[in-house]
Amino acid sequence: MNIILLGAPGAGKGTQAERISANYNIPTISTGETLRAAVKNGTELGQRAKSYMDAGALVPDEVVIGIIKEFLSSEKCKNGFILDGFPRSIPQAEALDRTGVKIDMVLDIEVEDQKIIDRMSGRRVCPACGASHHIMYNPPKISGKCDKCGNDLVIRKDDAPETVKARLDSYHGITEPLKDYYAAKGLLTVVEGQDKVEDTSALVDAAMSRLK
Ligand code: ADP
Ligand code: ZN
Repeated sequence: MNIILLGAPGAGKGTQAERISANYNIPTISTGETLRAAVKNGTELGQRAKSYMDAGALVPDEVVIGIIKEFLSSEKCKNGFILDGFPRSIPQAEALDRTGVKIDMVLDIEVEDQKIIDRMSGRRVCPACGASHHIMYNPPKISGKCDKCGNDLVIRKDDAPETVKARLDSYHGITEPLKDYYAAKGLLTVVEGQDKVEDTSALVDAAMSRLK
């Protein structure tokens, strides 16, 4: 099963990607996570991406296209994959089409802007394993600690309010046209993101089971 997760920043793509990955035993890649790891490790890729990310802008298409091509060519993707955060522009989607990889479903998680702004202000992420919590909606069992690995949770640099605004602008301007792009191919499934993670999960699972 080859799945794309679409949605505004903070819509909960990462959480759903992890769940689908575990339930269906297929790998997922988050371009955002991959880029953050590269920045942290100071690699050439990270050095290229950092200024864009800190400003809440998209990194250049060719950078993320390279990441995705490498992932898709790996052996572990032969039974399917989930793309979390790619494509995020029409040129990226066209590059994906040119690889010849067939997509089964584009799952779009819809959340209105004001809710996204509220969510991001409470988001806490684990720098060690990438897990994401929210102080209100998805609190960790032990305050300030990652449920998965126990590491200290931190606020993502690009979750600062002014950066969130820039991310939403680039989402609406550059990424959102992908809804029409994939709807025209008959691949788009829309799920309304709910306040509770488990309610969104139920809708995502229902969409996934219709696919089989
Ligand atoms: P979110 O979806 O919450 O905004 P991500 O972790 O997916 O966060 O992405 C973080 C940042 O990484 C983005 O703001 C952008 O700078 C960069 N990025 C991730 N995926 C892409 C992509 N497909 N194209 C361009 N930039 C990307
Ligand atoms: Zn962790």
